[in-house]
Amino acid sequence: MTASTSELPQRPTRRLALKGDLLDFTAAPAWGDIDSPAVRFQPGHWLLIEAGRIVGTQLAAPDETWERQDHSGRLILPGFIDAHVHSPQLDVSGSYGAELLDWLNRYTFPAEIRYGDPAVAKFGAERFLDALLAHGTTAAVVFPTVHKISAEALFEAAADRGMRLVTGKVLMDRHAPDGLRDDVKQAERDCIDLIDRFHGQSPNSRLAYAVTVRFAPTSTPAQLAMAGALCRADASLFMQTHVAENRAEVAWVAELFPTARSYLDVYAREGLLHPRAVLAHGIWLDDEDKRVLAASGAQVAFCPSSNLFLGSGLFDWPAAQRAGFRVSTASDVGGGTSLSMQRNLLDGYKVQAMAGHRMTAWAGLHAATRGAAEALGLAHEIGSFDAGTLADVCVWDWASGPVAQARQQVARELHERVFAWMTLSDERDLMSCFVGGDIRFQPNKEQKIHRS
Ligand SMILES: [Zn+2]
Repeated sequence: MTASTSELPQRPTRRLALKGDLLDFTAAPAWGDIDSPAVRFQPGHWLLIEAGRIVGTQLAAPDETWERQDHSGRLILPGFIDAHVHSPQLDVSGSYGAELLDWLNRYTFPAEIRYGDPAVAKFGAERFLDALLAHGTTAAVVFPTVHKISAEALFEAAADRGMRLVTGKVLMDRHAPDGLRDDVKQAERDCIDLIDRFHGQSPNSRLAYAVTVRFAPTSTPAQLAMAGALCRADASLFMQTHVAENRAEVAWVAELFPTARSYLDVYAREGLLHPRAVLAHGIWLDDEDKRVLAASGAQVAFCPSSNLFLGSGLFDWPAAQRAGFRVSTASDVGGGTSLSMQRNLLDGYKVQAMAGHRMTAWAGLHAATRGAAEALGLAHEIGSFDAGTLADVCVWDWASGPVAQARQQVARELHERVFAWMTLSDERDLMSCFVGGDIRFQPNKEQKIHRS
């Protein structure tokens, strides 16, 4: 430290207190339990934030050394964690009439090619992260594109916003159009350079690198081996990919990898399954796959909106619980049609209901907060109001508009109230979004007037 910086006056530590109905989880709620002891509901309490970190909660108002914001009558939750989402796909969400493989070729690949332009990559990254924040999502595991600059742009935009972000350059060296393919050697150099520059570079860093295999069909065996070698060389790296989303895709993988026991085995035999691996979908897995997943510590990102929209299939969450592997929730925009975690959880409820299961609000909200944080190994930083975690916090209206307000007025007990909120609300109910204790999103007045 130089003499001049050591003489700078000490900036006073910011102390911020938010009052509202605090809701988070202390553990995983049991499936189907609407009276779960894992639910921590503290109505009319103050959430205390010091230097960007949560230091506690209390019923009494803190003294005047605290900057106090009174959100009485509103719901305060940890920021949502989207475990699987594609930053360049905001432009293809809501594209008509295709299943996965056709949808990739008709809509998604043309949109992703544009991210080879640095200006598009920068603008797209900033627009995407601001959209997450405007939906109450403060942390995410993100696919950019094959272009190195698309990952750089995301890391830089997340650093500007202080957000927790896990991402990495997409690996794809076959079965994709010109402008969207890399090769093994260059891809390896790009990954190593991005890891060196962005992966947890300081104790306070909120950025982490994920070895990002698009999916088995778009990587050669040599590229998959390279990806596995990167994971084996550094256990702190994440890995993200897709698996067993759609039946035609599963059949194609069986043709491309005839010696693999299953689609999942293509990844398992290369060393890509580990506790920091996030696999989107996992709908068409057999019992052996589920056993392998559980043993590996990897998690499946359940993407209900996407699975319904693309007609991919119905993920069986209770079967995952029985098998013992972790499940987080995700929007998978643009296969999914909304970044709103409430809308995705509502779709999740419907997917489970189709199989005769009932997903409680606790199961859904836990998976989108503490559950995802634990599955990612980040529960010390995000996902709850535990003291010491960073203050990624969202303030929500319990209800806006006459229908939701009337529904809240007749709700009798806590689960009924929160389930109605999860079902009837969306991003338009977001009142404030904080990242590390700093305000990052507030709706403008016109929007609220329009809404009321
Ligand atoms: Zn996806």
